[in-house]
Order: sequence, then structure tokens, then C-alpha cells
Amino acid sequence: MANFETVEVNTDLLIIGGGMAACGAATEAAYWAKKNGLKITLVDKAALDRSGAVAQGLSAINQYLGIKNGENTPEDYVRYVRQDLMGISREDLVFNIARHVDSSVHLFEKWGLRIWTDENGKYVREGRWQVMINGESYKIIVAEAAKNAIQDAGGEIFERVFIVEPLVENNRCLGAVGFSVRENKFYVFKARATIIAAGGAVHVFRPRSVGEGFGRSWYPPFNTGSSAYFTIRAGAEMTCQEVRFIPVRFKDAYGPVGAWFLLFKSRAVSAGGGEYMVTRKEELKNWAPYGLAKPIPANLRNYLGQLDVDAGLGPLYMMTHEAIAKLAEEYKDDPKAFKKKMKELEAEAWEDFLDMTISQAHLWAAQNIRPEEKPSEIAACEPYFIGSHSGASGAWVSGPEDLPTPYKWGPVNMTTVEGLFAAGDASGASPHKFSSGSHAEGRIAGKSAIRYLVEQNPPAPQVDASKIEELKKKVLQPLDTFEQHKDYSTDPTVNPNYVLWRHCLDRLQKIMDEYAGGVTMAFKTNKHLLERGLELMQFLKEDVEKIAAKDLHDLMRCWEVIHRMWQAEAHIRSILFREETRWPGYYFRADFPKMDEDNWHCFVNCKWNPETGEWEMMKKDVWNMPGV
Ligand SMILES: Cc1cc2nc3c(=O)[nH]c(=O)nc-3n(C[C@H](O)[C@H](O)[C@H](O)COP(=O)(O)OP(=O)(O)OC[C@H]3O[C@@H](n4cnc5c(N)ncnc54)[C@H](O)[C@@H]3O)c2cc1C
Repeated sequence: MANFETVEVNTDLLIIGGGMAACGAATEAAYWAKKNGLKITLVDKAALDRSGAVAQGLSAINQYLGIKNGENTPEDYVRYVRQDLMGISREDLVFNIARHVDSSVHLFEKWGLRIWTDENGKYVREGRWQVMINGESYKIIVAEAAKNAIQDAGGEIFERVFIVEPLVENNRCLGAVGFSVRENKFYVFKARATIIAAGGAVHVFRPRSVGEGFGRSWYPPFNTGSSAYFTIRAGAEMTCQEVRFIPVRFKDAYGPVGAWFLLFKSRAVSAGGGEYMVTRKEELKNWAPYGLAKPIPANLRNYLGQLDVDAGLGPLYMMTHEAIAKLAEEYKDDPKAFKKKMKELEAEAWEDFLDMTISQAHLWAAQNIRPEEKPSEIAACEPYFIGSHSGASGAWVSGPEDLPTPYKWGPVNMTTVEGLFAAGDASGASPHKFSSGSHAEGRIAGKSAIRYLVEQNPPAPQVDASKIEELKKKVLQPLDTFEQHKDYSTDPTVNPNYVLWRHCLDRLQKIMDEYAGGVTMAFKTNKHLLERGLELMQFLKEDVEKIAAKDLHDLMRCWEVIHRMWQAEAHIRSILFREETRWPGYYFRADFPKMDEDNWHCFVNCKWNPETGEWEMMKKDVWNMPGV
């Protein structure tokens, strides 16, 4: 076996991940841990300052209710999420996050985040729920608060440690194992409670950007399905694994469209068909009641554009020049004021990208695009798993104690595995939490986990030394496989004794793209394709046993692809189980092309049994909050 030191860390609460949810969890848990003499430990595969989906900064906080000013209520938010997810959401969780989210935003401001305000000191809104920020350093600010809180409580932070596998016994989580991506160290974290907050998954499907653009995607490349892998392998019940997210973004550099639609009030059109939201309006009746209510769900907006693309009417365009001209129009009689306004709008347009998707600014520059002069192409991206945004995949977690929800079996945000909590992308069926709601949910989970430790006082984990050795061998196996066989051929990338991570990733993405409704299949699939996809996935799983890594970086890549593979399998099984099309625009079951409210107005949950290796698929009723 590769010569790695084993480092054992004992803690009360282990937080896995360093993104928005993990930082929220750390900030809150540290406060309560200090009061109760408990130790918390946070571990991130990257460095907290710039890790996760907010790494590059954002230009808007997407969930802020403004409760103190009477702008919105948590009930309003529940209605909004219910509508956007075509009726399927955990309203108890959505409500719980909504009633706490504003306080996370107020904390961000207190910690130094610049939130735009108007002349009356009110936050500037981009849309009903969003507030505009100078967000280049958003993640650094949130991370700093989390780091200070952990330090103050005497906790520990491990950066650049990749968590691979949960430690579980008798349906109780006892911590996790992983390895340093910089040093030859194998880590064993033994914990009395664990929060998983390792984000969603990208590059499960073949991206549009292949070849020279490989790696570029809407979703940042750091999150690779570790939350889903961790919870599935722990034996936790999962939910909404079919509810992937496909954003429509500026084509090829994936620049955000929110500011264009909401702030600039731009139109989107297809070159051959015109404004598809108008010309295809009739189609919305087929998806009633959701298609006929406002706001129109994100997947249906995607779908109307896709219908034009399918009909050969593309490309799709964002009419940036038209929107800017309209906004500047009121200054047209004053040339000086007009010029000033145009400059201001141009700066805002570029800054939107420079804040969070610099590559889109590069692409505009490379293609001589001046947004005030000509439109820009937009397109539906490849599918992603991001349960905190407009997708909903994640673990099935216990609901808030004070609500009459039927989903209660333990402390709030605990999965069906004892002592294992989930937040952010890791917790399912509570979409539209975004950066602020993920932080708020992290805080909820952090407090809940400490309360579990104090009230239930679970014993310190006892894990057999032989089990740890077995896991160490498994985690490091790709390095051993490479060492053992690397001299068999002259070119280490071609060897009959092993496969490299890139081979496995290409194969996984091909399976998902062609059988599970990816970009090249125009997001369509059916029973036969899905069953064939599962068959091919089985071969991939067998071949992955022979995955090889030449160094630590490769070892991380190997485990990333294995994590993605489990996310992929849960996805295929869930789309296959749900015999209807509920979210056209995200995926389309061509053999069940309609929504079926009678039989499928329910959650699809699944569970992998660690003892038998079998998957169980199940339906769960949707509970609506009384009076909402
Ligand atoms: C492109 C894009 C644009 C967005 N725009 C906005 C916006 O404008 N406004 C807004 O409010 N929200 C926005 N969001 C949503 C917001 O970024 C997410 O909701 C939020 O980051 C989710 O928080 P999280 O903690 O679950 O995941 P993340 O913040 O992504 O954090 C995941 C963490 O897990 C770590 N990790 C992953 N795997 C492992 C592993 N194996 N071991 C250890 N650590 C691991 C990562 O390093 C990272 O620290 C956007 C998201 C995306 C992807």
C-alpha cells in the first residue's frame, strides 16, 4: 500500500465542506459549542476563502425576504417555490429557511459585504427576492467569519483534505475518512455528529464545452457529487434525485442572465421564431396549473426556448442592445446625459460578468461583442445537480420541530442516518435557498447538531482498527494500481491493466448525455434509453475498480469521478421510476410526455442499502402548509 501517514482527529461535530452552508454551520455551531464545551472541526477539499460555488463572487444575493420592512413573508416564499418546482417541494424546510434567511444577509452586511442601497437606505432589489451586492469578495467575507468563530471556540480547520467516505455503523454516522491533496496523509475524522455540506455536482453530463473548452461550465468545477455520494453510501434516504437543473445562460462562457432579465428587462428571442415566451404561450396550458400561474417556472421558460431550437429556429439571443437602448431612451433629448447613461449601463453590463463569470467578459471581447450594439447568444446548459438553486436533489432530512410537518423523525436537518445532518446542496427538496438560504440552512443544521449532541449525548465513536485499514487501502488503491502496472507499457496513459480518471469521466459523461437526456439528445429520454444507460453504468462501475492515479492530484480526480458516478446512478434510477414528464426544460420522458398529477404529485425518494447493495425506490406524499 502507498506509504501514507494515518492522522486521526477526534471531534464532537464534523462539518464537511467549506462553502456557504458549511460556513453558516460553523458560525452558528461554534457559538453553541463554546457554551457547551464541545469541539467542532471543519474540513474542506479546497481553501475556505475561495471554495465552492461562490468562489469567484456574486453580484446578487438571491434570497432576501425583507421581513422587517414588510416586503415579503415566509409564506410568500413557500408559494413561490411550490410554483417554480411544479408543486413538488418540502414546504416545511422552505419555510424554515425563509424565516431565517434575512438574518444571514444582515450578518453578511455586518461582516463587511457591501449591499447596494437606494437614496432612502433601502436595499436595491434586482427582482422580488434578490438584492444587489458588490460581491467580488463575498466568499472571503463569509469564510472569515466562519474561521474566526471556529478559532474562538477552540475548533480545528483542515483545508485541502478531500473527504471520500462516511464512517457508519448500525445506521449511525461516526465521521468520515479522506486524504490530503497536498501531502501523503490519510485522515480519519471520528465525530459524534457530522454535517455534510459538500455542494452539488457538475460534469456528470457531457458539457457543451469539450476539447479546448473542457472544464468550463456554468457550475464551478469544484463540486463533484461528494454530498450525494456521502449520504447515499451512508445509507441515507435521498429525494428529488431526478430534479436536475438546466440554466439558460450566455452561450459558451455561461455568463449570468439574471441581471439582463430582471434589471435590464431584456427580451430573449429565437432568430427564426421571435420572442418565444410570447409566440409559444399556448403551450403553457399543457402544464397547468403551474404553467398558467406567475412567475412561470424556470423549467417551462427553458422549455419554450427549447421548442424553438428543436424546430430549427435558433440560435437564441438575449437582446442586450435593445434593452440598453430602452433604458437610455428617457435621456435621448439631452446628449450629455444620454452619453453618461449609456456609459453607466455599459459598465453595469460588464461588471455583472467581471463579478462572477470573468470568462464571459473575455468571450465578449474575443468576439467583438458590444452589448449596447448587438445581441448575444444564449443556450440551455448541460444538466447540473444543485439542490440549493432551481434543482432539488439531496438528502431527505427531518423537518422543523415547531411545524406540523409529517416529515419528523429527529432533530431538524438530520438525515435518516443518525447523527448525520445535511445542508445547502446536500439537503433535498428545498430549492431556491441560493447563497444566503444555504448559509441560513447551515446555521439551522449547525445549531440542531449541537443540540443533538447536548440533549442526546451520543457516545464517542468506536471504530475497529481493521475497518480503518480496509478503508485506507480502498481510498489509496488507485495509487497502488498505478505503481503496480505503470511499467507494463511505454506510455503510462495506455495500459491494459488500468483506466485513468479521464477515461472514466469521458465514459460517464457519454452515458449520461446519450441515455439520460443530455445536450446532444435535446434533454429527451425514455425507459429503454434509461435501462440501457443503467446497464452501461454497471460496466463502468466494474471498470472503475481498476482506476489508477499517478499522484495525489490524480487520486482526487479518481474519487471525484466515482462520486459523480453514484450521483448519476441515483439520477437515472429516479427519472426511470417517475413515469411522467413534470419538468420539461430540465428533462423530457418521451414515453410519458405529460404531467400526471393523479399518480405523480409526490416526491420520488431512493435509498441504497449498504448491507445488500440494493436500491429501493419509493413515493412520498407532498405536504402543503395549511393555509398557504
Ligand atoms: C454559477 C452559479 C451562480 C450562482 N449565482 C448566485 C447568485 O447570483 N446569488 C445567490 O444568492 N446564489 C447564487 N448561486 C447559488 C449559491 O452559490 C449556492 O446556493 C451555494 O453556494 C450553495 O452552498 P453549499 O454550501 O451547498 O455549496 P458550496 O458553496 O458550493 O460549497 C461546497 C463546499 O464543499 C467543498 N467540497 C466539495 N467536495 C468536497 C469533498 N469531497 N471533501 C471536502 N470538501 C468538499 C467545496 O470545496 C466547497 O467548499 C449560484 C450558484 C452557481 C453554481
